[in-house]
Amino acid sequence: MTGILIDGKSVSQEIRAEVKELTVKLNQESGVTPGLAFILVGNNPASEVYVRNKAKACESLGFYHVTEKMTEDVSQQKVIDKVVEFNNDERVHGILVQMPLPKHINEYDVIESIAPSKDVDALHPFNIGLYSEAKSWKEIMDKRLLLPCTPYGMMVLLEKYGIAVEGKKAVVVGRSNLGGKPTAALLLSKNATVTIAHSRTQDLKEVCRDADILVAVIGKANFIGKDFIKPGAAVLDVGINRTDAGLVGDVDFEAAKDVAGWITPVPGGVGAMTISMLMMNTYMAAARNDGGKSSKQVPTTSNQKDKPFDLGQRSLLYAQNVIKFLSTIPKTPANVENSKQLIRCSGAVGANYIEANDSLGKEDFLMRLRIARKEAKESRYWLDLLECPDSLNNERTSLADESTELLKILSAMIQKAE
Ligand code: NAP
Repeated sequence: MTGILIDGKSVSQEIRAEVKELTVKLNQESGVTPGLAFILVGNNPASEVYVRNKAKACESLGFYHVTEKMTEDVSQQKVIDKVVEFNNDERVHGILVQMPLPKHINEYDVIESIAPSKDVDALHPFNIGLYSEAKSWKEIMDKRLLLPCTPYGMMVLLEKYGIAVEGKKAVVVGRSNLGGKPTAALLLSKNATVTIAHSRTQDLKEVCRDADILVAVIGKANFIGKDFIKPGAAVLDVGINRTDAGLVGDVDFEAAKDVAGWITPVPGGVGAMTISMLMMNTYMAAARNDGGKSSKQVPTTSNQKDKPFDLGQRSLLYAQNVIKFLSTIPKTPANVENSKQLIRCSGAVGANYIEANDSLGKEDFLMRLRIARKEAKESRYWLDLLECPDSLNNERTSLADESTELLKILSAMIQKAE
């Protein structure tokens, strides 16, 4: 073997030791014990094993943990109710709904019911948005964003083995929401030049052979052969495939190890990192949102209780003005439609703003404000779409002023809260 073997198992143990140390410190400083809640639906043996292993990891780190088992035929609403219960449980800082869920349950609806600050799998669109829009890995780390555990583990492996990422060509084969896409986003944050390949990619071998870092997230045993690999490249294998010969990755390890510069085995490579990164995320969620006991506590919104009403009222007034405005312009289908959108936006601004003040943690608070800001921006957009005769410009100008005012207030609040 010429390539360096990336030992995910031992790095994973290092991470757990680090989380354990951080947890003791957090507990001493603020009395907070990280807590993780699992929701397990049905009797899928693999899911049962995954949850059991994650619960064991919690146990070994001194985390609080709780598992809610639900029957296969449980309704989607009951699962969501349980999530909401954990959202409001101060002992719980992370919520993990073990996938897959039975077919009658919409996984996206369940994921979206998790408070983003407790979404330790980083599957909530809000968290996906946060790490995707971050401009650098440093920003991701400084903001202590929650990251999807497996891609996060891969970034740690690259770091621990001193594998350069900046400016390198990275090819990720696979574009799933759980695997390929987040991996590509994180590599991009580390300034790699990233290509995402998939089943429709032409000349896949050549594309892969150009990579300094090659990541396989496909789900096809031994698919990536020696001839896909540039000599000296770092090869990270996320695939886990059960075969008669046991567990194997997407990379033909025996063939690839002689040409790669670094390579992860399966098992014992990338996969070995996932639970440790889940523990890191849970610690992070606890440290970010520890109920106000430590200095890192996010600003509570209690001192702004009197303000939301102002903006809520402003939004209401705005909606009333739009209705008035509507009565002054020709009722063409386009005008009516655009005005409806304006009213909807102003209602959403008010609602999100008011919700933002319901003593949420920082991330949830900011999320609500950002949604409100987005709605306010959108209302400007709809306003621009309204084509009005010149004589009506006065009304339109005052609505535009109100929109600008809403945006200004929200932007200032977001800046203050960040
Ligand atoms: P997935 O949702 O099935 O996605 C597979 C991806 O591979 C798709 O984007 C697909 O392309 C692409 N693909 C399939 N055949 C291909 C081909 N012949 N050439 C190029 N691309 C091809 O699977 P996933 O959830 O991402 O999981 C992939 C593997 O990673 C599985 O083995 C899974 O067990 C493993 N995994 C491990 C961990 C962990 O270690 N903890 C976590 C997540 C996943 P299209 O989009 O064009 O169909």
